[in-house]
Amino acid sequence: MNKITPQPGIMDITLYQSGAAHVAGVSNVVKMSSNENPLGASPRAIEAMQAAAAGVHRYPSSDHAGLRGAIGEVHGLNPEQIICGAGSDEIIAFLCQCYAGPGDEVLYTEHGFSMYRISALAAGATPVEVRERERVTDVDALLEGCTDRTKLVFIANPNNPTGTMISEGEVARLADGLPKGTLLVLDGAYAEYVDGFDAGAAVIDARSNIIMTRTFSKLYGLGGARIGWGYGPASVIDVLNRVRGPFNVSSVALAGAEAAIRDLDYVTSCRAENTKWRAWLADALAEVGVSSDISCTNFILARFGSQTEAEACDLYLQKQGLIVRRVAGYNLPEALRITIGDETSCRRLAQAVKDFKNGAT
Ligand SMILES: *Cc1c(COP(=O)(O)O)cnc(C)c1O
Repeated sequence: MNKITPQPGIMDITLYQSGAAHVAGVSNVVKMSSNENPLGASPRAIEAMQAAAAGVHRYPSSDHAGLRGAIGEVHGLNPEQIICGAGSDEIIAFLCQCYAGPGDEVLYTEHGFSMYRISALAAGATPVEVRERERVTDVDALLEGCTDRTKLVFIANPNNPTGTMISEGEVARLADGLPKGTLLVLDGAYAEYVDGFDAGAAVIDARSNIIMTRTFSKLYGLGGARIGWGYGPASVIDVLNRVRGPFNVSSVALAGAEAAIRDLDYVTSCRAENTKWRAWLADALAEVGVSSDISCTNFILARFGSQTEAEACDLYLQKQGLIVRRVAGYNLPEALRITIGDETSCRRLAQAVKDFKNGAT
């Protein structure tokens, strides 16, 4: 009897859980669960998207030359080595589709971003997880985890949900130690939060086995527009373009992203605000006994005494209208990931955690 059956691996995928946005019965809710920019997108990006809306009856550019040119100018990169996607998630999916299939392994770390596993399974490949060292990417563990079947190695630098990062030297050591035929993917979703950081571009330029993925969803505040990009060896970009749909990115998203990347003052001011309130919030939480690693991102991984305490605090925060992210699914059951909000939200959050620690229920 014929049975309609999906490809192997598909039913092993656990649905991606996005950050909650509502609490039943609570108004004035603050969402600090999805690492979004609390200040929103650049006003110039919004203006550009509104203007682009007038032309939505036309198909978008299929080569994304305008946006690739703008990215190249701003970051000093060759536009020929750039590909744009519907969020960096799409670039991650292209990479798995193109380079990993049944019998192949895709490596990432124990607290790594969940799309690596999902995309590997969707491509029919085998996801393989290696340990970190105290919530930091461990290059030795990744190198030891490689086999002759390892086709892709994913690390986010800085990482989500830990917020930590490794040095350029460590990234280079990882790239240089990989087996021939293994491609390293540097996920730079939070690179904009690190002042003066090239996200690994120099390491990439000196090698042929690394690609970076980037996004407009975090600091640029364009998560709803779905736009990201990748930069790597021309030969790899050429491969990815073969599976990319010709109109994978909307004209509205392209216009918004181009304006956003050119608005350097907005980027600088968002980064500065984030840095300020991140330090303030980390200190405020530490004062009431909630520790965190030094974060290089727009969130803090707050560590509690136990899973029970973390979950109780999460429930208390929800009652106060403060939504943060549980990360038990990232092997961090005793922690909560808290996105850095604006000043008011950070103050509300700190006060609520303090009240919780003082016994409020
Ligand atoms: C948010 C995030 C992304 C970006 O996803 P988009 O598809 O670009 O919105 C990628 N990697 C990590 C680690 C992230 O946290």
